[in-house]
Amino acid sequence: MPLHLDTRLAHCGRPALNAESGPVNTPVVRTSTVRFQSIAAMQAQVGKRASGQPVSTYGRHGMDTQRALEQALCELEGGTRAWLTPSGLAAISLSLLALTAPGDHVLVTDSVYQPVRKLDAGHLARMGVQVGYFDPSTQPIEDCLQPHTRVVYVETPGSLLFEMIDLVPIVAICNARGISVVADNTWASGYWFNPLALGADISLMAGTKYIGGHSDLMQGVIVTQDAAHAAQLTKTYDALGLAVSPDEAYLALRGLRTLAVRMQQHQHNALAVAQWLAAHPKVERVYCPALATDPGNALWRRDFRGANGLLSVQFRDCSEARLFAIADALVLFDIGASWGGYESLVLPATCEKLSAHRSWHGAAGVLRLHVGLENCADLIADLEQAIAGVLGP
Ligand SMILES: *Cc1c(COP(=O)(O)O)cnc(C)c1O
Repeated sequence: MPLHLDTRLAHCGRPALNAESGPVNTPVVRTSTVRFQSIAAMQAQVGKRASGQPVSTYGRHGMDTQRALEQALCELEGGTRAWLTPSGLAAISLSLLALTAPGDHVLVTDSVYQPVRKLDAGHLARMGVQVGYFDPSTQPIEDCLQPHTRVVYVETPGSLLFEMIDLVPIVAICNARGISVVADNTWASGYWFNPLALGADISLMAGTKYIGGHSDLMQGVIVTQDAAHAAQLTKTYDALGLAVSPDEAYLALRGLRTLAVRMQQHQHNALAVAQWLAAHPKVERVYCPALATDPGNALWRRDFRGANGLLSVQFRDCSEARLFAIADALVLFDIGASWGGYESLVLPATCEKLSAHRSWHGAAGVLRLHVGLENCADLIADLEQAIAGVLGP
């Protein structure tokens, strides 16, 4: 019987024992120069890297610590090759730069993580790469593809409102036309969902979020099973001079060891908070695909094994100023960007940001909550006092 993912996450990417003993964890191996026994050995290693194998001929390529993490991430995502980048955004940029050339078109779902648009407007446009956005729930992909579309970039669930996107028809059309499908899998962080298993060519994630899990690390991850995509990614990775320190790789690997228990607890706490909010008289709507009332729930149940700690909440008759006041009144939810750490966070998303989502029709905006690992009764009590304080009993 194949081992369960939780078991594999406890055992993957660990050092082999020497003749008699060894440490539990792969050590932090720091180096700039890689030394070789002989010129022949150096040439052999250079040849292997040129042929696409994950070997190191220089410190920038990383050593044992990065290799161990890459191996563990392949285990997590069902891939054969992984790349580590200095941030999640760098993983997005690397994949789009690796797969496009002047004259190409990239089609992106409209609910993606906002900074994708900075790369689009600031750099891809300058390189002669066109980017278009669409809402797959109302615009059939066939109508949005162009003859020169090279990449379809998807994030499911979406950022801020967690719109579920059906990857199956997207992959079917793109595979038939030789278009690469890139999926941002940060929401599930490989634990609840694997885009590669549904036929995506590349899965990428912000390791900054649940993989690190402790809000003390920036990292991006790209995983693929496909040799042609692997060759393109390595070429661009090397050309950009990207590198990740062994200390960061060590922290990410350490985070992976507890990913399973943290994800289960985030799911438990977030569901309790989501259900409490959904029943609150001052709440207009809770955005969370794990709720049975969410329009994405059926698709989420079909493709995902569980949920994370994220949800957004929209209040009845609530101005932007009151939305901000509720965020200010919360005590246990810190105000801050990002998510995936052990702690609870709140961030207002106003109409200015949400207008990029074609599915958004609200007035003031939403509060995005990241439900952390605190006791959820305390978190609910905190929400209760903040909502009552601003919107009344
Ligand atoms: C945070 C995030 C990123 C970017 O990760 P950083 O490490 O912060 O650069 C990318 N995609 C999604 C969906 C994210 O939430």
